[in-house]
Amino acid sequence: MQLQDRLDEVRNRMGKAAAGAGRKPEAVTLVAVSKTFDADAIRPAIAAGQRVFGENRVQEAQGKWPTLRDETAGIELHLIGPLQSNKAAEAVALFDVIETVDREKIARAIAAEMTRQARAVRLYVQVNTGLEPQKAGIAPDDTVAFVSFCRDELGLTVEGLMCIPPADENPGPHFALLGKLAARCNLDKLSMGMSGDYDVAVGLGATSVRVGSAIFGTR
Ligand SMILES: *Cc1c(COP(=O)(O)O)cnc(C)c1O
Repeated sequence: MQLQDRLDEVRNRMGKAAAGAGRKPEAVTLVAVSKTFDADAIRPAIAAGQRVFGENRVQEAQGKWPTLRDETAGIELHLIGPLQSNKAAEAVALFDVIETVDREKIARAIAAEMTRQARAVRLYVQVNTGLEPQKAGIAPDDTVAFVSFCRDELGLTVEGLMCIPPADENPGPHFALLGKLAARCNLDKLSMGMSGDYDVAVGLGATSVRVGSAIFGTR
């Protein structure tokens, strides 16, 4: 199968899942996760009309996206991997959306850089719904307070919540929990669902799904 066909299939399944949940297909954004793939592998997705992409490492993204952006207008780039505060300046300069805000130190660093660079980046708070020790994200119980901190102490606009459920668990309860937490924070954007479970996520209210291997192939 060509990339164009895989992309069409993902879009179709997203549309069906949305319809099945009584939602409009355009209510869900496809973030094509291009991590580990080089510019030549990404160009066919751009040629097929895809404009929203996700990368998990700042340095890797810096190596390919400035060129790809010069070639095509309207690219929207999401950081979906953990961010260290010493990379905050580069992340704020390069990305349109940072989905992995998960602790005070990084929130402060992002806020300071947005001011310094006079640049607004859209922000998601990452929630560690499975409380996995090796995984980034704020604990579910601390989410409401952390979102309030970002808003009230730092003056940041938080757009939504993001999660990566434990790989070996049924993702449904994690997606449902993220939705509940978002409602408690008065947020209506949910970044959840990957290649294996994006239709489940759309059924449970995802407003964006992050799909990599189903589009670009195995890494
Ligand atoms: C790699 C990655 C994805 C995409 O995973 P696939 O299973 O390839 O679709 C989604 N979200 C995050 C945070 C990732 O790191």
